[in-house]
Formats: sequence, structure tokens, C-alpha cells
Amino acid sequence: MYLHARSVRVVLAVAVACFAGCRARPGPSTMPTTQRQDVVLKPYEYRQIHMGVQARLAVYAPDEETAVRACRAAYKRIAQLDDVMSDYRPSSELMRLCAKAGGDPVPVSEDLFRVLERSVELSARTNGAFDITVGPLVRLWREARKSGKLPAAEDLAAAKELCGWQKIKLDREKRTVRLLVFGMKLDLGAIAKGYACDGAIAVLKAEGIASAVCEVGGDIVVSGAPPGRPGWIIEVTNDLPGGKSRKIFVKDRAISTSGDSEQFVVIDGQRYSHIVDPRTGLGLTHSMLVTIVAKDGLTSDGLSTAASVLDPERGRELAKLYGAKAYIRPPGGE
Ligand code: ADP
Ligand code: MG
Repeated sequence: MYLHARSVRVVLAVAVACFAGCRARPGPSTMPTTQRQDVVLKPYEYRQIHMGVQARLAVYAPDEETAVRACRAAYKRIAQLDDVMSDYRPSSELMRLCAKAGGDPVPVSEDLFRVLERSVELSARTNGAFDITVGPLVRLWREARKSGKLPAAEDLAAAKELCGWQKIKLDREKRTVRLLVFGMKLDLGAIAKGYACDGAIAVLKAEGIASAVCEVGGDIVVSGAPPGRPGWIIEVTNDLPGGKSRKIFVKDRAISTSGDSEQFVVIDGQRYSHIVDPRTGLGLTHSMLVTIVAKDGLTSDGLSTAASVLDPERGRELAKLYGAKAYIRPPGGE
């Protein structure tokens, strides 16, 4: 069975034989002592729309009832995190925070704080190449993708005034966030889906599911290996015509891919990505494909976007800081 993540870039596969049902003999560390040591685990897969994209769960469970109960709880967690981080819904915690930009510090949830904290850390480490304050710019480029016209220079300049990660002030002790300038719009599109996958996998673990995959719009987090297998097979594909792909085995890992193969606009012969270079305010014009394999989705998702803005060498160095592996197809390269 194949789980297609982002249709062409990452394909996640498990041998079919395994999906016919496997006899697993998990050791005591992975099985509750009340359970029999010899349990047939079967594969179950579900799909729902969350965060505006497809969210898939594939789990190994002893029976359907267990799988349904666990996946229901996992989807609930994804929906809850969408309520925290959505930049589309005015009622989300993130948008309520943005509505108070220019005012006093605002107490936020632990989830939101963690994602903001990591985002600001990535900004500091990338010299602002990764920057969640790009919301106003991202909105202009969304418009450009619809209209096929470049944003007006004055609109770009006004949006840039509202950007800058140093305008976010975090207080870990009080768990508050202060946005310094009225009109600021934070955008967690580069990091929220990976964190949501982490949340879903954690819930599945708590429900007793040791082997699972969560994929939200191309960001993937996997827990333990499928029964009797060394890991989940991830196929990292190259979207260039005739591009080669490679297979990797992973367990307890997260995989994210960023690039402009799906979301971009061509204006006057120039291709602009949905990822914005905060220094210029323009959609990236170099076409790169970055896949990151990291310990969790918060890390892989953030890094894949950050490395897309950086040059490949600095992207690899950044990944190393987080113990992650970067597969980068550089601009014009293989
Ligand atoms: P996708 O959304 O295609 O999965 P990414 O994880 O790479 O891909 O995130 C891209 C999104 O990140 C954009 O749609 C936008 O919301 C946001 N973004 C764009 N440019 C930046 C940037 N320089 N730093 C942080 N976030 C960005
Ligand atoms: Mg990302």
C-alpha cells in the first residue's frame, strides 16, 4: 500500500504482504503486560480534511474498534491544534493573538508558545530567512497567485514594514507573547502541519498504537516500524522530469518536503514560489526541493522551509544543528 504524500515528492510505502496482517511478537517494552504476547496486528488507514489539506492516518492495531477509537482521538488533536494555529480562521488562538498586536503581552497555550519559540529560534539561526511574521507578504503573494499579477510595490513595502521576527517578544516564564507592531500577522504555514503530526502520533501512542504514520498535507511523522519490518519505507522523489528517487527506511522519525513544485505563480516569465524571502519580500525565484528527516515534525517542517530559503550548504549545516538529515536538490541541480 502506498501513502502518497504530496503526490509526487514523497511516497510512503509498506510492503503489501505486511498489510495482509502480521504476526507480531513485540517485546515487553512495547506491549502492556495485560496484553497477550502474540497478537496479530492489522493495518488500518483513514483520511480526513484538516488544516485545509488531506490528513491521513495509517496504524497497526489488533482490531478495527481499537484503530477507530485511537484515530478518532488523533484527529481530534489535529483539529484542536488547527484551532490554535490556523491563519485562516479569525477565531484561532493565533489570530486572536495577532488582533492584539501593538498592545500588551498576551498569555498563550503551551502548544502555541512551543511553536512560536521554535520559529523564533529558527529565525535567529537563519538570520531571518525563516520568519513567521511574513503573514502580510504571504497574503499579497496568495493574491498574486490568483490574479497572475505582481503585488504593487507600495503594498510590498507596507507589508515589509510589518515583518521582522525581532518584533515578537516571548516570555517563557509567564508564557506570554507580545507583538510589537499593530497590524502584524503571524503565519505558521511553514511549521504547523509538522507539529500537528507530532500531536497525532503522541495521542496514538497514548492509545496503545506503537506503529503508525500521520501525514498532513505532505508532512509525515512515523512511530514504530510496521510489525516484522525494519521501518517504514519513504520514497524521496525528485520532481524534475526523469528525476531519480531514493528509498529510505525510517522509524520514530519525521519527514517534510518543501519546494515550489505545487504552489507558485509565473509572472513575466519569472517563477515565484509560495515561500517568501523575507529580505526581499518576493516569492523565492530559485527552484529548490528540500526534504528533511528529523526527530519530530516540528523540526522537519520548520527546517524544510528554512533550508529552502538558504543556500544548500547553509541548509545542511542548519539541519545538522538539529540532528536532522537534509536531501537537497539545489537550484538547477540534481
Ligand atoms: P507547504 O505549505 O507547501 O507544506 P512549507 O512547509 O514549506 O510548505 O511552508 C510554506 C508556507 O510557509 C507558506 O505557504 C507560508 O505560509 C509560509 N512561509 C512562506 N515564506 C516563509 C518564510 N520565509 N519563513 C516562514 N514561513 C514562510
Ligand atoms: Mg515547512
